[in-house]
Amino acid sequence: MAPITKTVHRDLSLDKVRNIGIIAHIDAGKTTTTERILYYTGKTYKLGNIDEGTTVTDWMDQERERGITIVSAAITTFWKDYRINIIDTPGHVDFTAEVERSLRVLDGGITVFDAEEGVQSQSETVWRQADKYHVPRLIFLNKMDKLGANFLATCQMIRDRLAVKLAILAYPIGAEQDFKGVILLLEKKAFYWNDGPTGIKFEEKEIPPEMADEVEKARHELIEQICAEDETLLEKYLSGEEPSIEELKKVLRHATISYKLVPVYCGSSLRNKGVQPLLDGVIDFLPSPLDVPPVVGINPKTDEKETREPKNSEPLSALAFKIQVDPHVGKLTYIRIYSGVLKAGSNVFNSIKKDEERIGRLLLMHADKKEEILEGYAGEIVAAIGLTKTSTGDTLSDSNNQIVLESIKFPDPVISLAIEPKTKADQEKLGTALNRLSEEDLTFKVKVNHETGQTIIAGMGELHLEILAERMRREFGVDATTGAPQVAYKETITHAAEGEGKYIHQSGGRGQYGHCWLKVEPKPRGEGYEFVSEIKGGAIPANFIPPIEKGAKEAMENGCLAGFPLVDMRVAVFDGSFHEVDSSEIAFKIAGSQALQAAAKNAGLVLLEPIMKVEVTTPEEFMGTVIGDLSSRRAQIMGTEIRGNARIITGLVPLAEISGYSTTLRSLSQGRANYYMEPSHYQEVPKNITESIVAKRA
Ligand code: GDP
Repeated sequence: MAPITKTVHRDLSLDKVRNIGIIAHIDAGKTTTTERILYYTGKTYKLGNIDEGTTVTDWMDQERERGITIVSAAITTFWKDYRINIIDTPGHVDFTAEVERSLRVLDGGITVFDAEEGVQSQSETVWRQADKYHVPRLIFLNKMDKLGANFLATCQMIRDRLAVKLAILAYPIGAEQDFKGVILLLEKKAFYWNDGPTGIKFEEKEIPPEMADEVEKARHELIEQICAEDETLLEKYLSGEEPSIEELKKVLRHATISYKLVPVYCGSSLRNKGVQPLLDGVIDFLPSPLDVPPVVGINPKTDEKETREPKNSEPLSALAFKIQVDPHVGKLTYIRIYSGVLKAGSNVFNSIKKDEERIGRLLLMHADKKEEILEGYAGEIVAAIGLTKTSTGDTLSDSNNQIVLESIKFPDPVISLAIEPKTKADQEKLGTALNRLSEEDLTFKVKVNHETGQTIIAGMGELHLEILAERMRREFGVDATTGAPQVAYKETITHAAEGEGKYIHQSGGRGQYGHCWLKVEPKPRGEGYEFVSEIKGGAIPANFIPPIEKGAKEAMENGCLAGFPLVDMRVAVFDGSFHEVDSSEIAFKIAGSQALQAAAKNAGLVLLEPIMKVEVTTPEEFMGTVIGDLSSRRAQIMGTEIRGNARIITGLVPLAEISGYSTTLRSLSQGRANYYMEPSHYQEVPKNITESIVAKRA
């Protein structure tokens, strides 16, 4: 077990903190790069004089065994007396919502690209997500040693695909098996790594003479680019004077933080080359918590916007962004503190649950140990033990200065399947496993089908559910069988309509009287549901409006066409009647439900299905077969392109048509093609298919 050490007094200069994430397409080298970073940073800060070559692999193996780089949601490490907190961003296909979750709490990112593959579809997705959350980035072009690695072509592809201006800081020396090191253009220094097992040692040597012109040209472009971002520097430059490296770095730092330029480094994590300059880049160019705008939230008492500066003297505001179960210390809640001080043993206010929560112990997670601390400061990321009420996305604040930070949105699951424990003992273990996993991962949902009594698990794709089922087996020892995956269809309406609901029984004794008219109207896709009362002149007393809404909502959840939830609709109650004695909440609830069903049936009900964005990478010879197969699955092919000697096919495919695709693709391509898939949007199901789905569910 990793030791726990305790720190009582801490100094923290916020300008020396970097909260970063490493963002990449799966297989680009995120894990390898993270491992190298932890090794080099651990080496300089904590591990002291470990004999190079003998211990590094042991250390990495141990880490891998403990899986710390995989399981820890945030790791604290040090580089040149800067504290770098690395927040884990899952690189898995189906987990883009999880990536968004982590993007919320970090201040800057390293985007890793494969120098041979270039911009893959998931890297494009995560790039855009990082744009959305305003995360300044560096680029690391990894795998420079790989056959087919091409630095300049990959840079060009990044410019074309992502429409960004690149500031190339590290220029490669050689490529593929001749990749030897990098030239730092600003400093005009060449660094060479030997092929040793760690890459801790590297040497500064002359810039190879045959590269002199190329390097001079690239350097010139870089300096011009940086100067263009600052008037004073530009004037200086135009008058023939070269600004100092410090001046250039300062302007580039500013340009990076304001998304004008993206610094580019390159190397090979696997071969231990080029990672240390990247770490210097993190310090030089990525923002500290002081460089990002103060966090904005809503004061729940006034409904007004408020901001909190990243200062310890401000009231506490913090966001719980991840819950994980640690095998040794139990449930850990990872918290980003935006302002104020979070104290171990104190009570804080959970402004979402509207309840006090006691903070037990506070930990900083290092790669090789846990450090117990008494206080977490503004700008920090800490893990708390002992929280029972707080879930992912909740805001913690000072009860006298409450604030609600924007919560984290998770998309609805698109696929579900039934899971059945093998024995009674498994039943119990399954319950625990499902609870824990759904608490950790909010895109994973669990429900019970009341008609069949089956437990249903739902998630973002087949692979997502497979991985979770595997974790249940491995980590929780659950033996269970799973049913066939079911697509999460939805229902919606296509035009406005009205409907009446009447629940009137008045024969003898106290009667029942509920009567209402509802109008339904379609809302744009994804906008959800809205309920309004347009009752005038007291046709229905105000206290019966909420029961009508409740009834309408229940009817929507149960669906009106084929039993799938009805979405994206505005519902207005505009007329009705009541009875002084016989009207009751329950009667209006039933009337609300009836009226909604009647209105929806008049409003052109249709089914919606999840559409997946899919990208297949295949050798050219299988391209025709792959496209043919996709077309037979109702796919809309968006485009094909050439990448090295591979062909990339992108398209949109209904999830219902693509189950078990990995097996099919393997057999179509003799195992040489691979694919990546993520939920894209919901779309109307063609009529003939709707009919057969409705018939099956009837
Ligand atoms: P992740 O999925 O992004 O976390 O990628 P990994 O770090 O697991 O790496 C994916 C694969 O690429 C593994 O087989 C690595 O050994 C390999 N890899 C990582 N970095 C490099 C590199 O610099 N060069 C080469 N040739 N392979 C690499």
